[in-house]
Amino acid sequence: MKSIVCGIDLGTTNSVIAFLKDGFPHAIPVEEGTAIVPSVVSFDPGNGSRWVGRRARNRRAAFPQHTVTSIKRLMGKDTMTAVGRGSFRPEELSSFILKYLAERASEQLGARIDQVVITVPAYFDDAQRRATIQAGELAGLDVVRIVNEPTAAALVYDHVPSDLDTDSPYVLVYDLGGGTFDVAVIEIKGEIKEVLASSGDTALGGDDFDERLQGYLLEELKRQADLPDLKPDLSLSVRLLDIAERAKISLSDRPYVEIHEVALGMVDGRPLNLDVELSRTEFESLTEDLVDRTMDIVAEVLKEAHLEASEIGKLILVGGATRMPAVHGALSELFEQTVAHSVDPDLCVALGAAIQGGLITGDSVGQILLDVTAHSLGIKTLDTVDPETGEPDCFSTIIRRNTRIPVSRAEVFWTVADGQEKINVEVFQGESPSCSQNTPIGDFLYPLESAPASSAVTVEFAYDREGLVRICVDQKGYDNRKEVTLDIRQRRVEETGQAEAVETPVNYIAEKARRLALNERLPEGVKREIMRVVQVYEEAIRAGEDEARMDELEDELLEILDQAEEELEAVE
Ligand code: ADP
Ligand code: MG
Repeated sequence: MKSIVCGIDLGTTNSVIAFLKDGFPHAIPVEEGTAIVPSVVSFDPGNGSRWVGRRARNRRAAFPQHTVTSIKRLMGKDTMTAVGRGSFRPEELSSFILKYLAERASEQLGARIDQVVITVPAYFDDAQRRATIQAGELAGLDVVRIVNEPTAAALVYDHVPSDLDTDSPYVLVYDLGGGTFDVAVIEIKGEIKEVLASSGDTALGGDDFDERLQGYLLEELKRQADLPDLKPDLSLSVRLLDIAERAKISLSDRPYVEIHEVALGMVDGRPLNLDVELSRTEFESLTEDLVDRTMDIVAEVLKEAHLEASEIGKLILVGGATRMPAVHGALSELFEQTVAHSVDPDLCVALGAAIQGGLITGDSVGQILLDVTAHSLGIKTLDTVDPETGEPDCFSTIIRRNTRIPVSRAEVFWTVADGQEKINVEVFQGESPSCSQNTPIGDFLYPLESAPASSAVTVEFAYDREGLVRICVDQKGYDNRKEVTLDIRQRRVEETGQAEAVETPVNYIAEKARRLALNERLPEGVKREIMRVVQVYEEAIRAGEDEARMDELEDELLEILDQAEEELEAVE
């Protein structure tokens, strides 16, 4: 059997195993199609059997006393955990997770796994690192290297062709996991990556967000059941925590969640039901101070590294909890730059460990090509107006640039007038806050049910690999949904929902060009040139040319249009 080197992110909450194949790192889907394995071990005290991962996590609610979580926090400590039939050292418990990962990955790949690279937080001391190596050995693995988690993440981004080219060698890695927060500033000197400063909070992570929400849900439950003195038992607490986590995850992609839970428990023979609608804004105000705390630590680390925020060349997001929009918001504000999140934040560290493994065995690593959105995509809203025309010109982003596709995101907007009859949904792509500086993609009319001003309308964009964006508009509280499909490459809107008349396909640039070419005041030569390029462009669309070619032609066309417009201004 062939033997390969794997990279393992042995996390506090979740662990991931990855390997290098044909020069590219892949996370191995070891559990029911997912690569993210809960770092949980559960025991049956009766027969001594043991579960790891998802099944262990599922047992946690029913058998909390037989289940261990957050083992990583104990690493390097001289302590024993009594669980199941025995008592275990932290490295023994960790070895169960490592063994499980290696065995499952080995089955999947049909290859032997005996050498591994394991990652640890940058702040881990010698004892903690040694314990990690021992855990590997106890699992029957040869730990060829221990790598710092932020360094592993930076290694991945070394191989992602990035448009964030800067001269700065400094990278900041912001890692918000389940129970811990780590931040590190790394200096890249070619192959060498040096951690200049690192800090964090070992008691701050996604779990805290869940607990906040759990507290809020419990208050709601008490209010709805009219039981102000309700004291939740362990089972109710765990269920509320699960509901809270699911709601939190859902709010990363949508503006609201609806929680409808029945029979969360029984009180005096009466079932406890919970019905809550929670907006992202409410969730963010419940948890704002947690995000602020991470930002304080970021400021500390910058200070320790003697750097200003503006000197950081790249910002890397790691950890599942960085999917929360509030985190992006706080970071983009401080760093005034796009945040690198094109690699899955929950897989990034393991992928880096796999790359490190490959480098050790002398494999070459290729450029990782990702399916990401090349531009931000959003709609025009009224928040700001163009000072010259007085027309609304605010670009409200729905899907940010560099987001992995397929992706689906929704945002909420508000109507402006009482009884407003319709909204013209105008879709743009680009990075400017003004629509006039971005590229129009298409628009369509959305008829509204009669409602007072400021009623909510949700706009959802679902972007697939073929460059099609399904847009769904929904007037909250009314049975009024409309769906259209937009072809980003062809800039075409097709109505699919309860549409009225199907509009003629709109191709904004071509249309604008044709209009300009009719302008009497333009010299003949310019008009002919416009028409020539429009024809080439339209032919390319029909022939289904690839994106690179389309971008090239589009640039050419836009350039000619700019020139023509300048000429016209000069004549006027
Ligand atoms: P760790 O490094 O601590 O093992 P992870 O990086 O796997 O942890 O992060 C786990 C945390 O990420 C959990 O709190 C989980 O709820 C959170 N998380 C995962 N996906 C999302 C999401 N889409 N939105 C918000 N939080 C998320
Ligand atoms: Mg982690």
